[in-house]
Amino acid sequence: MNTLVDEIVSDLIVRAAPVCFGVSGGKDSTAAAISTMRYLDQVGHKGPRLLIHSHLGRVEWQESLPMCERLATHLGLELVVVQRQAGDMMDRWLTRWSRNVDRYVNLSCVKLILPWSTPSMRFCTSELKSAVICRELVHRFPGQTILSVAGIRREESSQRAKAPISKPQPRLSSVSHRTAGFDWHPILDWSLSDVLGFHKDVDFPLHEAYGTYGTSRVSCVFCILGSRNDLAAATGCYDNHAIYCEMVQLEAASTFSFQDAGWLGDVAPHLLDQSTRDALLCAKAAAKRREAAEGRIPKHLLYTKGWPTVMPTQSEAELLADVRLEVASAVGLALKFTKPSEIIGRYQELMDASAGRAA
Ligand code: SF4
Repeated sequence: MNTLVDEIVSDLIVRAAPVCFGVSGGKDSTAAAISTMRYLDQVGHKGPRLLIHSHLGRVEWQESLPMCERLATHLGLELVVVQRQAGDMMDRWLTRWSRNVDRYVNLSCVKLILPWSTPSMRFCTSELKSAVICRELVHRFPGQTILSVAGIRREESSQRAKAPISKPQPRLSSVSHRTAGFDWHPILDWSLSDVLGFHKDVDFPLHEAYGTYGTSRVSCVFCILGSRNDLAAATGCYDNHAIYCEMVQLEAASTFSFQDAGWLGDVAPHLLDQSTRDALLCAKAAAKRREAAEGRIPKHLLYTKGWPTVMPTQSEAELLADVRLEVASAVGLALKFTKPSEIIGRYQELMDASAGRAA
């Protein structure tokens, strides 16, 4: 199996750039770190190297950090553990939900917005992983160009199939710290069997999530991109039951399923207490009412980048009032701006504010 290198990476290795391996405890980041360390030794890289792990809090497999520590010992490298200062992944979803409710109550958005990240809006990865990791690396290596290694593989997804060997990482660029940096993907061409075979060859154990519980990926225990099989497999681990219940409670409170494909609460309902099961049942019915009501809103009344672009007519304001009352009743919210005249006034206020900003 090759370590993929391009001209930019080769040049930085010769110039002794810091090489930092982002590790999750999973098989791909482990394979990337071990194989790339060997490559760097072979070509005589003289720069600093370290492992860096972004801890996702209670959504993380409990075995992940010990696996990263084991890898650090195996490679003789420092392991830097970072985490989001404002709370973990679950806190982020909870806070987002409470802010989205406020926005809806105040008609700062026209449709109620879900608490979860989605495949097209992966703030979970960008805020909880890359932003936190890059911030730490920028502080650690002022004045340098940093190589940040990620163990992604082309066969994992159509998006990853198009990934280059290296690309500039804007979050590693800092004017004040005089840094720049690149993401480096040295095992892009590896297959799953390459990765598994490599673990055997180097005699490094796999995370228990694969062997003991049968998941195909390790990162968040319950991932917005996870297959139903992986979600179910994760519930097989006792350590994950508390976060499972907490996430289902957010599904129930928000009336938004964790994934488009289905409700997390349906994956292992036997782990939920009766009141959560009942709340989930109500949430599913409420979600249908919410979706049906919001499906009546004409597109032009939705905001663009958070601002209205047209004033509703009297009949449109009456429709919006109906929709808001139906959503409030389905989800259990106490709203402002529920009368047509209040809605027109609020649109006007936001239109004026938007014009003021533009001016
Ligand atoms: S593992 Fe899934 S849920 Fe967790 S940060 Fe990555 S994409 Fe988001």
